[in-house]
Amino acid sequence: MSTLIDDAGQPLLALRNVSKRFTRPPDAATRIARVFGAGPAAETVHAVDDVSLSIRRGEVVGLVGESGCGKSTLGRIAVGLHSMSTGQRFWKGEQLELLDAATRSRKQLAIQLIFQDPTASLNPRMRVQDIVGEAPLVHGMVTATGQKDYVEQMLERVGMDPSVLRRFPHQFSGGQRARIGIARALAVQPEFLVCDEAVAALDVSIQAQVLNLFIRLRDELDLTYLFISHDLGVVRHLADRVVIMYLGRIVESASADAGFSTPNHPYTQALLASAPKLEVRKLAFVPVKGEIPSPLHPPTGCHFHPRCPHAMARCREEIPALREVAPGHFSACHLNG
Ligand code: SF4
Repeated sequence: MSTLIDDAGQPLLALRNVSKRFTRPPDAATRIARVFGAGPAAETVHAVDDVSLSIRRGEVVGLVGESGCGKSTLGRIAVGLHSMSTGQRFWKGEQLELLDAATRSRKQLAIQLIFQDPTASLNPRMRVQDIVGEAPLVHGMVTATGQKDYVEQMLERVGMDPSVLRRFPHQFSGGQRARIGIARALAVQPEFLVCDEAVAALDVSIQAQVLNLFIRLRDELDLTYLFISHDLGVVRHLADRVVIMYLGRIVESASADAGFSTPNHPYTQALLASAPKLEVRKLAFVPVKGEIPSPLHPPTGCHFHPRCPHAMARCREEIPALREVAPGHFSACHLNG
């Protein structure tokens, strides 16, 4: 069943019926047991399950969900870092997987990933000039003699002093390393950025500065973002559209205003209700009855049914399709018919 979200006009990036399954490699004991016809069956994780998503030029889409819901895997598929088990990926209407490797790799330069942990994503042995200037040099966007000036421009663009070219990553604060990571992505002149928890590792005050930098860069460079976060506050600050994922599926998609003010899906409502607030109240925790679903054991029917206060018999058997509940507002719940 498809979770198709159609947009008017040609999307910049479109994912169609994308699924991704990971199979855990067997350990030595399992391999030996299988030689004798025994041992457990291979465990398959359904990280992304039949997801379709279209993103228009200039749009900021916030992809929200709890840890393990498949949002980072979907982001990596969008960039081309993960292959798909099934599905199709389109860039400006062209199906990327049908192109030869060299053409696909050239087109994919326009789609860049900003990593969650700027410390881990920067090579500690490389100087800033090489970190930011390596990819444009390799792809012929700049000559060896012009690399220094080019990197200086990139650093100024992200609000850094260009005189830090010869420094190593450990000589910077977390916020500065995040800016270097952004400069590295911008250096290949992308049109689309996938930001995977890009501010999660930063202090709150630095988070605000980096989010404002993303907003400024969007206006200056006409960028499009898929902004992946578990933090609803961050998404609310930045996104035009919010897409909610649960156990590998999209359960709701709406404009940020509608998604936050009139959420339709019970999971989105629960997510918003559990967002931290400055208030004192007593919480009642309702125990979950039945099997708790997971990407390893995806249930039949609605993935949310053991936790849903509105669950019906039908929810156990049938996966609800995404339906348009208001113009541009989609939700996958049997309560909508
Ligand atoms: Fe709840 Fe059923 Fe809707 Fe799933 S389909 S969210 S279980 S009412």
